[in-house]
Amino acid sequence: MSSTVEAVVSLVGGAKRIVVFTGAGISAESGIPTFRDPLTGIWARQDPEKLETANAFREDAALVWGWYLWRRAQVAQAVPNAAHQAIAQLTWTRDVTVITQNIDDLHERAGAVDVIHLHGSLEQPKCFACHRTPTAFSFEEPIASEDMRIEPPRCPRCRGKLRPGVVWFGEELPAVAWKKAVLATKNCDVLLSIGTSGVVFPAAEIPTMALRAGAYVVHINPVQVVQPSCRELCLVGRATEIVPALVFLMRPSTGAQVERPVP
Ligand SMILES: [Zn+2]
Repeated sequence: MSSTVEAVVSLVGGAKRIVVFTGAGISAESGIPTFRDPLTGIWARQDPEKLETANAFREDAALVWGWYLWRRAQVAQAVPNAAHQAIAQLTWTRDVTVITQNIDDLHERAGAVDVIHLHGSLEQPKCFACHRTPTAFSFEEPIASEDMRIEPPRCPRCRGKLRPGVVWFGEELPAVAWKKAVLATKNCDVLLSIGTSGVVFPAAEIPTMALRAGAYVVHINPVQVVQPSCRELCLVGRATEIVPALVFLMRPSTGAQVERPVP
């Protein structure tokens, strides 16, 4: 075991409050595209930056809704990976807040409790007109992925068009989620930053905020993303290998199996 791994195990093992901060890298290991690579198939000629704006929705709501149905279909095919599962396991036994920049539901499907979505969720559309989130919305299944343009459903309250409940370019983060994330970050002892390149602001401020509040920050990424300061540690490699190994090394010495709590 390397000395950095040993240090991280002892830090996380001794922490009272832990924040797990995740980005696109962890979903990519489940096969969800990050859209930094060129698109393939029917979307090859589309630019995500142009589809993911309020203006694009105003101009062609059916194109934007179709794009999100396609993305949701990709997420539905993906399964939570070993890193999602290890994080979930940590939330069952420790005081852990998961803050994710991802709009998929892989943390929830792995069984994680207390997940904050900083950039919204594919699962919760909201009204473009009145901004409300319909309480009982269910997507029509199955989704025909070759249908590029699909008219969005209507808001049950005002008949406005429903839009994806995700944060688009130029939009602010959901206020409640951001407030909860800041509170958890300022109160944690250790923050694990996993699969995030730290370029999307203001979400990227989260690790810095933890450092300023006196916490340790552990970066887990395939490449080293920061020059670590004195309370920062870097573990370079795949999240699906590093995170399960850390959680395994922190397991109770009784060797008892950790059971998923009954909701
Ligand atoms: Zn409405």
